[in-house]
Amino acid sequence: MRILVTGGAGFLGSHLCDRLVELGHEVTAIDNLQTGSRANLSHLKGNRHVSFQVHDVVHAYEGKFDRIYNLACPASPPHYQHDPVRTARTSFLGADNMLDLARRTGARFFQASTSEVYGDPVEHPQREDYRGNVNPIGPRACYDEGKRIAETLCFDYQRQFGVDVRVARIFNTYGPRMNPDDGRVVSNFIVQALRGEPITIYGDGKQTRSFSYVDDLIDGFLRLMEGGAEIAGPINLGNPDEFTVRELAEIVIEMTGSKSELVTRPLPTDDPMQRRPDISRAREQLGWEPRIDLREGLERTIGYFRER
Ligand code: NAD
Ligand code: UDP
Repeated sequence: MRILVTGGAGFLGSHLCDRLVELGHEVTAIDNLQTGSRANLSHLKGNRHVSFQVHDVVHAYEGKFDRIYNLACPASPPHYQHDPVRTARTSFLGADNMLDLARRTGARFFQASTSEVYGDPVEHPQREDYRGNVNPIGPRACYDEGKRIAETLCFDYQRQFGVDVRVARIFNTYGPRMNPDDGRVVSNFIVQALRGEPITIYGDGKQTRSFSYVDDLIDGFLRLMEGGAEIAGPINLGNPDEFTVRELAEIVIEMTGSKSELVTRPLPTDDPMQRRPDISRAREQLGWEPRIDLREGLERTIGYFRER
């Protein structure tokens, strides 16, 4: 198939491109390089089944594709909060432009949504029918509300124009090719531990997250995109094993053998206190569940950062 991947030079996008090429597809990656990097795709250079173009999804894009994966959007809080208006535009206009391309060309459409649509959740674990607790005017809103309106657009394009949409609500995912300056917790802790720098715990470190290794997630993407038309609604993709941020720091210190000390920093505004996916729907509809546990995934990710 001919497949378009927006955000293809990012962390998840580049892993997705790898898998699609392995499967024999013709892949076009587009990216404005805001947080991604050409280096993430450099190993594919010269492969005639992949092409890369610098393109910002706030502008329309033309081409004939069978599948469109829309991943373009900065994902790390410091990056998406750096220029919040741009983030909101990327989410809204990017989804609109790519959905319109899908409508005009008959492509099937995949949206990289997020657990952030649940905000700071009061239901735990989070099921897809939970409507969330998002602060619409806080510093995270450009991302959370951007992703929520993108979901709205997906299901309106489906109802109004019959576009075949697939929406993945992705929970915290980590792995090789995260930018060392990405700012998210797993890469921060590993890089700090390997450099012997203090490990920065925001708040008291009792807030929880559920961490998914990238390979599991990409497997979920493909199952969701290629599953039958009966797949209904958004689907949580994440690892239900839940850890406090402090536990994560301790595991990283132990696994790296680091002498780094733990230091605390202020908790960012609206930082969600707990997060764990209910993945019953993914199990039932996709036959998917994660296979790589935190220690195994960290082993691989630490290895990646150590080499660099
Ligand atoms: P990332 O920052 O590595 O990748 C995002 C990519 O999108 C980057 O290459 C960036 O340059 C590109 N981009 C940003 N704005 C763009 C624009 N206007 N036009 C074209 N390209 C643009 O982050 P990631 O972790 O790979 O996230 C990929 C997608 O998955 C994002 O949509 C993110 O919201 C979603 N997601 C990721 C996670 C996670 O834990 N990794 C969790 C939930 C959702
Ligand atoms: N966090 C932390 N130290 C860091 C980076 C993040 O304690 O150096 C915390 C952050 O406050 C949040 C959790 O780790 O509670 C996950 O943060 P991340 O930015 O990875 O993703 P989020 O789930 O908040 O979007």
